[in-house]
Amino acid sequence: MTTAVDLALLDGQVSMCRACPRLVEWRERVATQKRASFRDQTYWGRPVPGFGVAGARILVLGLAPAAHGANRTGRMFTGDRSGEVLYAALYRAGLATEPQSVSADDDLRLVDTRITAPVKCAPPANKPEPAERDACAPWLHRELELLKPTLRVVVTLGAFAWAAWWQALVAVWGGPAPSPRPAFGHGALWVGGEGVPSVLGSYHVSQQNTFTGRLTPAMLDDVFQRARVLAGLESRG
Ligand code: SF4
Repeated sequence: MTTAVDLALLDGQVSMCRACPRLVEWRERVATQKRASFRDQTYWGRPVPGFGVAGARILVLGLAPAAHGANRTGRMFTGDRSGEVLYAALYRAGLATEPQSVSADDDLRLVDTRITAPVKCAPPANKPEPAERDACAPWLHRELELLKPTLRVVVTLGAFAWAAWWQALVAVWGGPAPSPRPAFGHGALWVGGEGVPSVLGSYHVSQQNTFTGRLTPAMLDDVFQRARVLAGLESRG
């Protein structure tokens, strides 16, 4: 059974990675130049490992750290508007102990859940290159190997995470990806089985979606209630 020590070791290794020159240069430049409102803070400026419990039944898969969010605080989806929306929804669903994730050393804990991303360094314009996605994939796959014994459902935030999942499915669980590949959409569901997690699509919690009403809190609540059921957790709806 995977332990917190196993995950912590992996997280430590991830946070030292310098495999992508463009992303290393960008994450460190952002951390040095800073946004004016954060000029008194020390940015993390490194790869951001996953956050959450060993033995997670639910995995939330995003895209990549935000330049002044997770790249500043060192914790996934912490310190920006996207994270405010996500953690509030996880709290309402009983999957986080606090409604806000403020900093990496606050008291928030996830419940039965881990959050991670297919690309663990902040990319310019939130757009990783395909080569960077491929370079980072082994980190995600090693993380999934550790979560495999307990993982029941993956909530993919956006089409990038949805696409990354099928490669991970083949790499970690073996066998072919479904063909044709299921289309991404909000609420799209692919049912796993026999130790393979199910996958549930959600629009990304970016401001582009939440400010325009494309993704509402009620829509996120529905996603996480479905995730609870797929994970075999008691429904709170
Ligand atoms: S994106 Fe991934 S592979 Fe590339 S430097 Fe960051 S952690 Fe390493």
